[in-house]
Amino acid sequence: MALIVHKYGGTSMGSTERIRNVAKRVAKWHRAGHQMVVVPSAMSGETNRLLGLAKELAPAAHTTAYARELDMIASTGEQVSVGLLAIALQAEGIDAISYTGWQVPVRTDSAYTKARIESIDDTRVRADLDAGKVVIITGFQGIDAQGHITTLGRGGSDTSAVAIAAAMKAAECLIYTDVDGVYTTDPRIVPEARRLHTISFEEMLEMASLGSKVLQIRSVEFAGKYRVPLRVLSSFTPWDIPLDEEAKSGTLITFEEDENMEQAVVSGIAFNRDEAKITVMGVPDKPGIAYQILGAVADANIDVDVILQNVSHDGKTDFSFTVHRNDYAKTIDLLKEKVVPHLGANEVVGDTKICKVSIVGIGMRSHAGVASRMFRVLAEEGINIQMITTSEIKTSVVIDEKYMELAVRALHKAFDLDQDAA
Ligand code: ASP
Ligand code: MG
Repeated sequence: MALIVHKYGGTSMGSTERIRNVAKRVAKWHRAGHQMVVVPSAMSGETNRLLGLAKELAPAAHTTAYARELDMIASTGEQVSVGLLAIALQAEGIDAISYTGWQVPVRTDSAYTKARIESIDDTRVRADLDAGKVVIITGFQGIDAQGHITTLGRGGSDTSAVAIAAAMKAAECLIYTDVDGVYTTDPRIVPEARRLHTISFEEMLEMASLGSKVLQIRSVEFAGKYRVPLRVLSSFTPWDIPLDEEAKSGTLITFEEDENMEQAVVSGIAFNRDEAKITVMGVPDKPGIAYQILGAVADANIDVDVILQNVSHDGKTDFSFTVHRNDYAKTIDLLKEKVVPHLGANEVVGDTKICKVSIVGIGMRSHAGVASRMFRVLAEEGINIQMITTSEIKTSVVIDEKYMELAVRALHKAFDLDQDAA
């Protein structure tokens, strides 16, 4: 008997029929003797619908007052979900009770629409579990020190579930979703993509930050910090498959470099089309330039990803970096108005039609030449590399967006990811 946290995504909660299936699955785990805490998302499409209503009344304003109300509105999606799931469980003959984030409470900071969890008081939940109840807690939401409702950012229910599992020292946190695990890459792009039986936490963190949308990145950070055993698995298997089989399905996120783990040099290929490239041309090559450019960008709360500066010719160089596409126009304006005039640079140019493709693998730590193999594969496909960035366990390139699928497919094949390691 163990304490287990289940998280169900919006698709899994998408209709009353599906909620009934979730209830039957949770009941199966409960009857097997486990203490169960369940964290569901809002029914699929619901958060978008709710936020859409707000935008019908007034276009998104960047004020704290507006953001506060967005959280007030969006948090109701999960409140409906927990109540429905509790009723479905009761109909299965299980004693179940639901709580919102503020009832637990799940305490967060006050950053509306992207709040961070600070602490979770598990007293009430534990008492219910000890009384034999299944406890259902809203994903995505919490309460700040002043009693305002907050939400954790889109996809935040993953983080709620992991944080609750961490706070309660759960034996495992199972993330039930509409895919059956973590894949070597997106199967919609590469049909040969394989499900990984295990992936290390570090690799998962890179995959999540590089654009794999299986888990919200903060949930992975949380799992790493508190060493929460985490598994991603399908909620579309029949609810009555044997529990032992279900408990071993999907992808387990591991913490140790287990000897028996799939020992691929590269474990996955990630990609995203969310970034845009900006180049400040002809900047003087002298101390303080990177700070003048990127300091101004940071002050405007814009995140920068890849950065590139080359050696100068005649004391001038080009300085390039990428930002999220949503921040592109704002960044260009900012540079033109506030930075270039003081810098003595020539001009600012940009490109939104780029993408970032990355190979990820802890095996890269111990194998030389992995990056050059990547570059060779791209060269053979005639794909020009615009920027490169590396870390211990990944290499990313920025290329023309129109070659994204070609690059992902070619790399997937070249690194033998099409073949089953087992
Ligand atoms: N309902 C929220 C969203 O759609 C949170 C979640 O589903 O994880 O983003
Ligand atoms: Mg999700």
